[in-house]
Amino acid sequence: MNSALNVAKFGGTSVATYETMCNCAKIIASNQSTRVVVVSASAGITNHLVALANTALTSQQIEEIIEKIKTIELAIVGKLKKPEQISDKLNVLLTELTELAKHEEINFRDDLKDALVSMGERMSSLLFSAVLREFDVPATNFDVRKVLRTDSLFTQAAPDLSVIRQLSQSLLQPELDSSVIVTQGFVGADEQGRTTTLGRGGSDFTAALLAEALDAQTCEIWTDVIGVYTTDPRITDKARPLPELSFEEAAEMATFGAKVLHPATMEPALRQDIKVFVGSSREPEKGGTWIVRDCEHEPAYRAITRRKDQVMVTVKTPQMMYAQGFLQRVFTIIAKHNLSVDLVTTSEISVSFTLDNPPNSVSERVNKETLAELTTICDVTIEQGYDVVTVVGNNMHSSAGVSSKIFEAVTDFNLRMICFGANPHNLSFVVSNADSEDVVQVLHKALFE
Ligand code: ASP
Ligand code: MG
Repeated sequence: MNSALNVAKFGGTSVATYETMCNCAKIIASNQSTRVVVVSASAGITNHLVALANTALTSQQIEEIIEKIKTIELAIVGKLKKPEQISDKLNVLLTELTELAKHEEINFRDDLKDALVSMGERMSSLLFSAVLREFDVPATNFDVRKVLRTDSLFTQAAPDLSVIRQLSQSLLQPELDSSVIVTQGFVGADEQGRTTTLGRGGSDFTAALLAEALDAQTCEIWTDVIGVYTTDPRITDKARPLPELSFEEAAEMATFGAKVLHPATMEPALRQDIKVFVGSSREPEKGGTWIVRDCEHEPAYRAITRRKDQVMVTVKTPQMMYAQGFLQRVFTIIAKHNLSVDLVTTSEISVSFTLDNPPNSVSERVNKETLAELTTICDVTIEQGYDVVTVVGNNMHSSAGVSSKIFEAVTDFNLRMICFGANPHNLSFVVSNADSEDVVQVLHKALFE
């Protein structure tokens, strides 16, 4: 273990402006163990880039969006003490961005989309390394594509762990003695060197992957909230930050809607026992949440999450009683389309499951194809307008009274589907969009207040 190594990741709001970057720089300067820094794109930039990549726009609309991007980037450069150190490099990146945005096939080729969408992190890492040097941190901007090998599934690429380890050990590790490496979250490259991305919010995942590959001891995720909360504080002002969470709890929370962490982030941490910290770069003195293997307390109820806009699919065949392999055929189709099923319930002749399908998401198109294919083997009913509310905790399936307390709290609501028992950390309900906020509130009241 690289005992003194900390990987620190700063999210979009933390690197939004020169001023917020200075807060981050102070955090880095105050911890000698931080040798690898992973950044998101400055807030708003990725959304602009995604708009350029995915929408058919007039040349004027393209120009307008590029102007907005430039305004954000140049506002940061304008405050640097020595802008000339990096302004040529930034101009090269802006030119590359402009060429990609105007490429006639940009809306049709996922490889071009990823090249374009990666520009946000490439710019923010360049600018942030310059800010760090103003704080006397010997920072070097490092192209993550040299080490973060992925497959070629553009826009949702999967990391190749063994290659990442090997490349990080040979190309990144030797740099760490002399400099603090500032690199891009979210971005990778396939075997042919083509730029890929890990999916929206993927920078947390990058940080955890690099921490794993470099045998780091800790991985800090700096964002705009002082840790992980009992529930989304926008739903109830009674929500409170959690000092401690286990890897399993954090993974459940991220998968079932807690916005603070990308769901895949916990996997590397779990494999390598890397402690993960979540805190606010604006208020580092307020502390944050530590996510660890063994918590001091393992309460029955830890948190409540909500995942919005789930599609519920029910497939039904009169033959299921006899037809072995029906489930397998259904899930083969789902897997073929790279969809992930979250909750499943079955009865004698039907199976219901939920898919994540926020409006305008990339997966929406895929889902339509999937459903068409399912229709060829069974009756398919699709219901929209649902959210999943999840109580995350410990030993929920084996402690007496734990579930009854939860069910008592929600007796007034129509629970379209309940999933319980497969996992000691999770009890989930499917409820209508209209009810979900109330369900979270009553549960929070019953379990935490
Ligand atoms: N910039 C990317 C996004 O907005 C990745 C990240 O911030 O984690 O999705
Ligand atoms: Mg993020």
